[in-house]
Order: sequence, then C-alpha cells, then structure tokens
Amino acid sequence: MSPVTTVIKEDMTHSSAGPNIPLSPQEQRVIKLFPGATLADWEDWRWQIRNRIRTLDQISKLMKLTPHEERGVKGAGDKLTMSIPPYFAALIDEKDPGCPIRLQSVPLDYEFETTPDEMLDPCGEDKSSVVHGLVHRYPDRVLFLVNEMCAMYCRYCTRSRMVGDGNHTLNTSTYDAALNYIREHKEVRDVLISGGDPLTLGDRMLEYLISSVKAIPHVEFVRIGTRIPVTLPQRITPELIAMFKKYSPLWMSVHFNHAVEVTPRVKHACNMIADAGIPMGSQTVLLRGVNDSPSVMKKLFHELLKIRVRPYYIYQCDPIVGSRHFRTTVETGINIIQHLRGHTTGYAVPTYVIDGPGGGGKIPISPDYVVSKENGRYTLRNFAGGLYTYVDPTY
Ligand SMILES: *Cc1c(COP(=O)(O)O)cnc(C)c1O
Ligand code: SF4
Repeated sequence: MSPVTTVIKEDMTHSSAGPNIPLSPQEQRVIKLFPGATLADWEDWRWQIRNRIRTLDQISKLMKLTPHEERGVKGAGDKLTMSIPPYFAALIDEKDPGCPIRLQSVPLDYEFETTPDEMLDPCGEDKSSVVHGLVHRYPDRVLFLVNEMCAMYCRYCTRSRMVGDGNHTLNTSTYDAALNYIREHKEVRDVLISGGDPLTLGDRMLEYLISSVKAIPHVEFVRIGTRIPVTLPQRITPELIAMFKKYSPLWMSVHFNHAVEVTPRVKHACNMIADAGIPMGSQTVLLRGVNDSPSVMKKLFHELLKIRVRPYYIYQCDPIVGSRHFRTTVETGINIIQHLRGHTTGYAVPTYVIDGPGGGGKIPISPDYVVSKENGRYTLRNFAGGLYTYVDPTY
C-alpha cells in the first residue's frame, strides 16, 4: 500500500470536525455516492439536507429495490416525498427489505391503498386549529406547528397531509398570529413547538420562535417535538445547544422507533442535549414489522435510558390514509406494555396511547390490572399474574 492510500483511508474514517466519530463501513459506502464529498460535509447538517436521497436513481444505487418499493418510490407525491439524509440512509440494511429503517423511510406501493376507516387528518388537528399552525385541544397547553419540512419523511406520518418540502405557507406573519393567540390565552402554560420538524429551521428562526414564546409571562416552559436527533444528529451543534441553554427550562420530545437508531452519533447528540439540562422524552409509533414486539421495544427503551431519554409515549399508529400495512392491532400494544411493566425498570415503560380518531386526543390504553371491583374491594393482578386484594378505607 502506498503512503498516499494510507492517508486517504485515514481521512475516510476520522473527521476533525464534529464529534470525531469514525465513519461506519455503511457510511463509507454511502458517502462514495457523492463524488467529492468530504468528512466535513458528512458532519455538516446542511450538506446532509441538501443531499437527501430523493430519486429512484439515487436509491437504486444504494440497494436493489423490491417491486413494491420501486412502485412506491415512483408513485410518492409532492407531500411526504421520499427524502432520506445520507446519514440515515447508511443505517439501511441493503440486503433486507424488512429492515426497520428501510420500512420507515422507503415508500412502498401499499401507501396508495386505503381503507374506509382511514383519514387524511386522523387526529383532527385542522378542526382544532385556532389560528393557522396552532392546535389548542387541551386546557393548558398548545401545539404550535411551525413548519412543514422534515429531514426524513416517515412513511406513516400522521401529518402526511401537510409535511413536505416546498410548502412555504408559514412565515413570520402566521407566527405572529399564533403568538398573539398565546398571549391572549392566559391559561396556556406549556407550548409544544413541532411541525414538520422545527429543527430543520435555522438557529436564528428557531431562536425567534422560542424567545417569543418564552417572553409571554404566563408560559412556564417550551417543549420541542423533533425527530432530528435521530434522522440527522449532525444538526445538534454546539451553537444550537448554546442557544437552547438561554431558554431553560426547555423540554424535548424525540421520535425514536428502533434500537438501531441509537448510533454513536445519536448518543453524542443526546448527550449534548442532556448535558445542557434539557430533559428528553421519547415518542414511539407502534409499527408493524418495525417494532411490534415486546423484545424490540424493550431493547429500544433500554438503549434510550442509557442516553438519558425517558420513554414517554407509544402511539398506536393513527389511521392515516395508506397506513394499513403499518398498523397493528391494539392487542399488540397492550401485550407490549404487559411485557414491560414490572419486568423491567419502571422508567423504561412509556404510556401507550391511541389518539382518538377525529380529534379525541391521547387516550391511554393499559392492560387490565383490576380483575374486579366490588364495594371498595379491588382484586388486582400483578405483573407476574398473582392476585391481590386491596380494600378502600371506610370513614
Ligand atoms: C400530544 C399533544 C399535546 C401534548 O400532550 P402531552 O400529553 O402533554 O404531551 C398537546 N396538544 C396536542 C394537540 C397534542 O396532540
Ligand atoms: S418527523 Fe414527524 S412530522 Fe416529520 S415525517 Fe416523521 S412523523 Fe411526520
């Protein structure tokens, strides 16, 4: 081997920018699809966004598509386009059509089929919108949808009616209408900034939003709902973290679906977030073939606790148009909770919820631990199946 080859090889595996995490063999394979791309590019979230994999031609260079995928990629529309950051694409197992990352990110033609119970807006968000982009469903908190762009479009997205690049219907004047609404509603003490993915916005725009919300006296804290720490961990830069620290207390909900998403880069990003004093909760969508078994979920939640992310919700997959192939029975979700509660760390057990179709909000579903209830006598089943009686006090 000549010295030159050695140098190039080293350059391909170590980067001076960013967290200095060597490229995995898969990452080395993917970066070669972008002639001239450097390790600094790979560490640059804007490069990752610009170079998302969006065409049949590009994805075909990465893997041999199945006929269902090929039809899916060809048929995906303007909304919920295929869009996979090279970083995330490198997590795909190109030999396995059942790979959980692949199922979440590569369209299948099943998306074009629909059943009568499926809806375009299953959570009834448009109906509960008080001003454009602001959903006020619960008494003391609002959901502020600040953009429509994500790094990766999840194929089962509950907001597929609105997410996608190139829809620029939100701007500072719509933001100002939402901010005014919050100002006028003194009962709002918690503002959840989501989208799209708010972290696809630049630092300045994000700071404008967070600081404007925080400046409202009755708002106690801001939350950010995002999938970026998973699909594009490079976005979590020291500059972004420094900005976040100015607006403590800030909470973050991060959408995680599978343990393979917890890579060294994701660990690094979550460490930065946690070290900045930002508590993180995870939101996981129960998806057929991706995470619909107790062992897959348990592994994910154990990995999350190691990176200081507290499992928060498992969502039953919403009946979004074209989601049948992703949806499981409700029994599947109940069974998962039953296999977690008592069997592992309580912090590793999220709340399983169904978003009541049509706008009911999150409704918790749990295994039946109350076997019978009569005149204040409760017969209870514990995690191991044992029966216990609790009697209410009498006064
Ligand atoms: C999920 C959601 C919230 C936040 O709910 P929490 O249970 O407090 O996390 C708020 N508003 C809307 C419309 C939501 O869908
Ligand atoms: S990141 Fe969230 S909003 Fe964006 S496509 Fe995925 S589920 Fe939808």
